[in-house]
Amino acid sequence: MSSIELKAVEKWFGNIQVIKGVDLAIEEGEFVIFVGPSGCGKSTLLRMIAGLEETSRGQIMIGDRDATAEPPSKRGLAMVFQSYALYPHMSVRDNVGFPLKSAGMTKDVIDAKVGEAARVLKLESYLDRRPKDLSGGQRQRVAIGRSIVRDPTAFLFDEPLSNLDAALRVEMRYEIAKLHQTLKSTMIYVTHDQVEAMTLADRIVVLEFGKIAQVGSPRELYERPANLFVAQFIGSPR
Ligand code: ADP
Ligand code: MG
Repeated sequence: MSSIELKAVEKWFGNIQVIKGVDLAIEEGEFVIFVGPSGCGKSTLLRMIAGLEETSRGQIMIGDRDATAEPPSKRGLAMVFQSYALYPHMSVRDNVGFPLKSAGMTKDVIDAKVGEAARVLKLESYLDRRPKDLSGGQRQRVAIGRSIVRDPTAFLFDEPLSNLDAALRVEMRYEIAKLHQTLKSTMIYVTHDQVEAMTLADRIVVLEFGKIAQVGSPRELYERPANLFVAQFIGSPR
């Protein structure tokens, strides 16, 4: 059974079609990256999976459930946003534990889950700080921590590194790769950065004007690009 499956998914904004019949089965634990130029529909597709954007046609399956009409809160997915959206007046500990507190969990459970997330993300020594006293990369990790505690079926990332400077982007790319190795969760990640895609992905989905141009491993795309668009985008010598 796939973790997440898109079946003939379409998105229309009024009479403009921006997602044009996408079929894709994502396996459990897979790291899948959507790439493509600005405006090709990456964010829209991710937001449809998250339930933040209605699906005009087609189906979105999560596990064996038809989740097409489910609200975001029912989908069990974690969306990690580009902007960190942390609560400035709360400590790191309270920021990470917030979703659990909202769900009415006990202090013991919250402490255990927050401790576990902090260990995975190496945030143990920052738990009593406020977001303003953290670096950009640390804030990003707190945001990820807030998703981890809910044990999501999958993590969805929309260009999570695009606000960071070049050095930090390389560091965080490495952190995300390690996070995937540690958690072994399904991850769906949007970027327009070929290097990010080539280094992180198990499979890359190249989008061209709302359609899949090609799906394959980084190596397959590099060695056997389906067309000139993919070749130029991936930078392979075709
Ligand atoms: P990407 O993330 O690949 O840059 P988007 O998914 O943001 O692309 O956008 C895909 C297309 O859909 C673009 O042409 C964009 O202008 C259009 N679009 C996105 N959101 C809306 C909206 N709410 N209303 C109308 N058009 C939209
Ligand atoms: Mg986008």
